[in-house]
Amino acid sequence: MSNKQRLLSGMQPTQPRLHLGNLEGALRNWVRLQDEYKLYCCVVDWHALTTMSEDPSQIAANCREVALDYLAAGIDPEKTSLFIQSHVKEHAELHLLFSMVTPLGWLERVPTYKEKKQNLKTESEPYGLLGYPVLQAADILLYKPYGVPVGKDQAPHLELSREIGRRFNHLYGDVFPEFVNIIGEVPVMLGLDGRKMSKSYDNAIYINETTDETAAKIKTAYTDPEKIRKDDPGHPDGCAVFSLHSVYNKPNLPQVESECRSGARGCVACKKECTEAVNTALQSIRDRRRQIDAGSLEAILKKGADEARTFAAQTMDEVRAAMKLG
Ligand code: SF4
Repeated sequence: MSNKQRLLSGMQPTQPRLHLGNLEGALRNWVRLQDEYKLYCCVVDWHALTTMSEDPSQIAANCREVALDYLAAGIDPEKTSLFIQSHVKEHAELHLLFSMVTPLGWLERVPTYKEKKQNLKTESEPYGLLGYPVLQAADILLYKPYGVPVGKDQAPHLELSREIGRRFNHLYGDVFPEFVNIIGEVPVMLGLDGRKMSKSYDNAIYINETTDETAAKIKTAYTDPEKIRKDDPGHPDGCAVFSLHSVYNKPNLPQVESECRSGARGCVACKKECTEAVNTALQSIRDRRRQIDAGSLEAILKKGADEARTFAAQTMDEVRAAMKLG
């Protein structure tokens, strides 16, 4: 087992594809961190059931697609344990034990719970919606990590995981060390409509799409509405195309900005340059993705689950001993 400090990261497979916001906001950070830390990188399929329980038929396939995006972005299975949550049953056992010590009031106060409850499409509310943070606490604490890489806006969500760990330790003795948030540098990535890039807004550019699909999307992207003619002075702030330039065309960014402001560049040419920059930056990732066959992917996921299970089983031994179970 590695002597490096551990980190736990994960994403839900509610959609089969990760977008550039996921790539720049999370994946790039994980790829950087895997050299310094032992990363457990999890596709959290049970969490996807909180919104997909009526038709879970796509979840397994989605998991593979998300794992392919991880690998394409540079997650190295020799350094990182990449696995699917449901392949390591210890997550379920720790979730059950945590559910016995977590006060209901803590869960009912979670802002995202209230929000999800309002948007619920099914008639009756499943327990899983309320218990989501308990499963998340189990996902994290099972690996007794030093830290969890997280975007600034998600940092408060992890506080409840810490609270659950503290409560367990208070009741049964110190099993779970306190973990830290590792806040990544997240570039502002606007979606094609100028709002935050998100699969639910249908405004995303995906890692796994063709160069033509990316080009067609950027062609229709939101730009400064006051810049009507080519030589009108423009305002790059809030322009979706400028946001992409700022991540994928950094060396030319000052020129893009000054030409936009002065009216020396039109949006059509600007979008063309942006498309080339985005497609060039994604080329190696897309190529790598195509080279991973289904057999190799399954072998990577199995190896990752075996490694994760080895650590998780050890934690569960400590948990059962602390609770005097078994
Ligand atoms: S010139 Fe470029 S940066 Fe300026 S508004 Fe048009 S697309 Fe956006």
